Amino acid sequence: MTGVRLHGARDLRVEDLPDPPPPGPGEVLIRVTAAGICGSDLHSYNHARIGDTLVSAPLVLGHEFAGVVEQCGRDAASGDGRPLCAGLRVAVDPATPCEKCEMCLRGDTHICRRLHFCGLSPDDGCFRERLVSPARSCFILPPDIDDERGAMLEPLGVAMHAVDLCRIMQGDTVALYGAGPIGLLILQLARNAGAASVYVVEPLPWRLSLAQRFGGIPVDPAADPVADIMRKTGDRGVDVAVEAAWADSSVQNVAESAVPGGRVVLVGIPGDNRLSLDHSTARRKELSFFFSRRMKHTYPGAIRLVQKKHVDLEGLITHRFPLSELPAAFALNARYSEGVVKVIITNSGTRGA
Ligand SMILES: [Zn+2]
Ligand SMILES: [Zn+2]
Repeated sequence: MTGVRLHGARDLRVEDLPDPPPPGPGEVLIRVTAAGICGSDLHSYNHARIGDTLVSAPLVLGHEFAGVVEQCGRDAASGDGRPLCAGLRVAVDPATPCEKCEMCLRGDTHICRRLHFCGLSPDDGCFRERLVSPARSCFILPPDIDDERGAMLEPLGVAMHAVDLCRIMQGDTVALYGAGPIGLLILQLARNAGAASVYVVEPLPWRLSLAQRFGGIPVDPAADPVADIMRKTGDRGVDVAVEAAWADSSVQNVAESAVPGGRVVLVGIPGDNRLSLDHSTARRKELSFFFSRRMKHTYPGAIRLVQKKHVDLEGLITHRFPLSELPAAFALNARYSEGVVKVIITNSGTRGA
């Protein structure tokens, strides 16, 4: 089967990989039909590293995906306990927690110490034709959610978790640094949660105008973002400040944008694995910081949100490529040009239901 592996920084190769083994008990064989490129995949692509994890051996990237069940092992039941069978379309949670450790037993499966994650060494990801997945990671897609939006339930889950962490309340003001796919989803969820104003800092003009379409208030890209947010909030600052960009100088700006006693949530991942922040900024205002780590069991809720049209996923998809053109798709995404927001890799899935 065709698969694409990363051999080193910016070295993606389309290869003929061995077919996956038949699924064991509690597992399913999935044909991947739609997969999204994530900002974290771009970190791996650009630096052959994500955080402190090195991509040492050739690795299939990718963790945002949907597909069709082709074969089931014994006792294959979905994440919400429904029996799986061949032919069902599913979205797949890329995280496989151990379900035995202290964190798992108290419900915090996303911070499991023995967590495996699709597309993170040593586990190959979804940029290949087929893979074997735990059945419990699968969630059946209803007919009105196509495979592409099924793939985007993963970034939606990440956004839901970040918004849950900082508890956006009715009437809150929010500053959002970064209107990439995750930022644009956080924006929509913050508006749904009752945020009075969401100020959006984003250097790419097409992303800023997309943010405006979702109800965001653009911060002047030519101005100092903190000064502009202070001006717009009457020198008060915002209740909740979200970093959903590259976690570089934006971390300091996010902290400076928050009102005393405000909440700061960090979603973006820095390229150099360092966090830079003046201690006094955070201490004098007694800010609460939340480091957001992926998500936990958000798929059922994410499916309901999309089904009821409370979130627009389709509007974020700007480019589609077949699997065989994945290297070109990554190159385009890494250039941050040509109006790119979300790139989806398609493999004869359903579209536009
Ligand atoms: Zn992702
Ligand atoms: Zn665990």
